Amino acid sequence: KTFEDCGFPSQLMNTIVKQGYEKPTPIQCQALPIVLSGRDVIGIAKTGSGKTAAFVLPMIVHIIDQPELDKEEGPIGVICAPTRELAHQIYLEAKKFAKQFGLRVSAVYGGMSKLEQFKELKAGSEIVVATPGRLIDLLKMKALTMLRATYLVLDEADRMFDLGFEPQVRSIVGQIRPDRQTLLFSATMPRKVEKLAREILSDPIRITV
Ligand code: AMP
Repeated sequence: KTFEDCGFPSQLMNTIVKQGYEKPTPIQCQALPIVLSGRDVIGIAKTGSGKTAAFVLPMIVHIIDQPELDKEEGPIGVICAPTRELAHQIYLEAKKFAKQFGLRVSAVYGGMSKLEQFKELKAGSEIVVATPGRLIDLLKMKALTMLRATYLVLDEADRMFDLGFEPQVRSIVGQIRPDRQTLLFSATMPRKVEKLAREILSDPIRITV
């Protein structure tokens, strides 16, 4: 399997090559075709496997394929991660690929000015990478709506649960239209995460690396 087999637009291919990504990692080989087909996915994978690009690259395709991109507002892609560090890494990876398409990426997590994040979200973002608590705060402040969100990623779901974010995660998912595409990544699948997956994913395909 190669990145060419995924049928990415040439601009995206150029950036993939520029990043030095020569061939897809095992999780990317498995996940990319399935995610690109629009299916929900449960990915059992750890950091270092290349899982971020496995959900970021199809997200870019998903967003640029939206026919009426400028009609509504709010993010189209929403990514939740347990920690600031992970959210920041995902933000950097998303920015690499989003930039040339003019897609705006916002990082939303604690330890940074809420007012700045509020202003940035108000100005508009196609992609939001967030820790659950801060995203809930900003939703309550009406910094953004999720009416346009159709691509949701829950990354390191087991860690989000360990850190007590289950209620926030459930609240966020509940604010996103049910016909979205949902991807859930987790290093382990404890019963509580399995239950969430059963509740919020539609006929998911399970990938293990
Ligand atoms: P991740 O597991 O998503 O945190 O990715 C781990 C590292 O691998 C990151 O530094 C990525 O930039 C890098 N990476 C992701 N996909 C590839 C690939 N196909 N080829 C080479 N490096 C990659």
